[in-house]
Formats: sequence, C-alpha cells, structure tokens
Amino acid sequence: MTKNTLNEEDILWIKRLLETPRKIAIIAHYNPDGDAIGASLALMMFLQQNNHEVCVLTPNSYPDFLKWMPQSQTILQATENQSLCMDKIATAEIVFCLDFNTFNRTGILQKASEEAKCIKILIDHHIDPDATFDIVYSATEETSSTCELIYNFITNMMNGSRYMNAEIAACLYVGIITDTGSLSYSCNNKSTYYVLGNLLQYGIDGEDIHRKIYDTYSENRIRLLGHCLVKRLVVLEDYASSFIYLTKEDLTQYDYKQGDIEGIVNYGLSMKHVRFTALFSERDDRVRISFRSKGDFNVNDFARNHFQGGGHKNASGGNSYTSMDATIETFKQLLKQYQTALTTPWE
Ligand code: 5GP
Ligand code: MN
Repeated sequence: MTKNTLNEEDILWIKRLLETPRKIAIIAHYNPDGDAIGASLALMMFLQQNNHEVCVLTPNSYPDFLKWMPQSQTILQATENQSLCMDKIATAEIVFCLDFNTFNRTGILQKASEEAKCIKILIDHHIDPDATFDIVYSATEETSSTCELIYNFITNMMNGSRYMNAEIAACLYVGIITDTGSLSYSCNNKSTYYVLGNLLQYGIDGEDIHRKIYDTYSENRIRLLGHCLVKRLVVLEDYASSFIYLTKEDLTQYDYKQGDIEGIVNYGLSMKHVRFTALFSERDDRVRISFRSKGDFNVNDFARNHFQGGGHKNASGGNSYTSMDATIETFKQLLKQYQTALTTPWE
C-alpha cells in the first residue's frame, strides 16, 4: 500500500474530529486538473455520507472534459462566485487542501484560505509541503496521485470501505489515469494498480472513463496540437532538450479553451534523445510554463529555482513575468549550466 505518512495519533485525532457533523470546505488548486477535481469530489461524497456539510471550492474553472464527473455541477468556482466561496471558507470548521502544498496555488482564494483560523488538513503528493497545515498527509515518490491518497485515506485510515461506491470510484479513477498519463509515468508502484483494481470492483467502466477524458477533444484542440508540433517545437540537441511556445495569437487562432494545451508538453519529451522539455504559453500577465523530464533531471528544483514554481521531480510548472522572447532567452541561457547533467548518459 501507499506509504502512510499519517501516524496513528493523527488518524485517531481526525476520526474523533469527524465524529461530529462539521462544516467542511475542500479546496483544489488553480487550474484544477483531473486529480484535483477527482480527489475533491470523492472526498466530498465520502464526507457527505458521514453527515458533514461539505463543499468543493476551486479558484477558477476546470476543463470541459471533466464536466461529466459525478457531482461536478456542485463545485463552487471562485471566479464566478467569489463572495460565496469566501463565506464557505470563513464559516468552515475544517478545510481540506487537495493536490497542492502551498497556498500560492489557490489563486484568488489564497488570502482567505491562508488566513482561515479553522483546522487545515493537507492531502497531496507534491514535494516539500508547506508547514502551515495542522495535519499533513503527503506522499510523493511512492504514490501516483492525490486520488490514490484519498483512496487510502477513506478505506484504510478512516475505515470507510463501506462508503465507497461507483461515483467515488469514478472520480478516483480519473485522478489516477490523468496524473499518470494513462499509466505511463509516476506509476511504478504496485499500490497504484492495486487501487485501480479495487476501484473496478465498484462497477466503473475504465475504458468509458478514458474515452470521456481523451476522446472528446474539439477540432481546434487537435489542430492546435498540429500547430505546436509543426511550427512551435524547438529542439536543442546540444542540451538534450526541447521546448514548445505558444503566443497569445496562437491561442486565439485556435479558439483556446482551458485544458486545450494539457498534455501537449509531453510531445516535447517523446523524442528519443530529449531528456528535458518545456511548454511556454503566453497569458495576459505572464508566461505560464510546464516542465517535464526523463530520469534524474529534477524539474521541481528547476521550476523552484528559476521560475517561482514547483511540482514533482519529472513534472513541474512555473511562471515568468517577462515577455515570451525574454522567457525563452532566459531558459536557453539557463540550459548552459545544466548541460553536463542533461547530456551524461543515465540508462
Ligand atoms: P502542469 O505542467 O501540468 O501545469 O503541472 C505539472 C505539475 O507541477 C503539477 O503537479 C502541478 O501541480 C505542479 N505545478 C504546476 N505549476 C506550479 C506552480 O506554479 N507552483 C507549484 N508549486 N507547482 C506547480
Ligand atoms: Mn496531482
């Protein structure tokens, strides 16, 4: 099983806390993905069955390809309903923070969630969690996703297997397959397959869930991918690296919708000799960056040290507050100090 980083004392403390009906807010990160949404909805459905008053809050909207998910219509988005979200945080007795480990990932909910006086519980799989939580359940290398941790939290820590059902299982399944690129990375622990196998027992159709996520793209999204590969991919052979950049005009041309560039960064890494890749995407106030790597090259460190970001060893994100051209130039200059690390054989 996934390494349990909550000790017996913490588990008992949470169990006692949840013996009484509570007002609970579950907060996911900015630009929530399948793991953040899946984990939040699954935890909400579990807690609701235990008579708690629970809501899921997201700083902004989430991709259309997740909108079929059970109970997703109940999610409160801060960009649409800021005062209600603030109110939910202010009145919550417990806040669960899922799939992020630092409050600067919560967008316009940051101040309210950071300053909330209630009990804060973190369940997450990113490196180096912030110390400002009352309880931290964090596993990194030994797990695939926050959804895998939520499965463990419900069934093992809270002894809640009897509350598992097809709706919760579908949500957890989504998080595991999206955070592992359909079981192609972060999936070398047998616990991940054990959890997936168990989820199937609740009557979900894994193939159907996969189709709902990956086979419902718009024509624009597919053509944007083509544009990236033909016109916007740059390979830097001397550094075993590559990058893709997308300007605001590119995004407008292909009628960009949230989620449309998810996964595109992985194409930059799919060439045999490439070990490190980045995707730069121009926004109104910044350039949003995704980093991916193979093997030992640590993109969590790279994002933290140079682009105010973070994430995992092989997948991270960050931001640049200069122009696209300046950002790319900075990136190219930085590569020079990593050339040896990037080109030393590791297989
Ligand atoms: P993505 O490139 O898919 O947006 O993000 C890759 C991973 O890095 C995800 O696990 C995400 O949570 C994390 N991540 C993305 N952006 C940031 C950021 O700005 N700060 C931190 N700490 N983590 C990030
Ligand atoms: Mn995740």
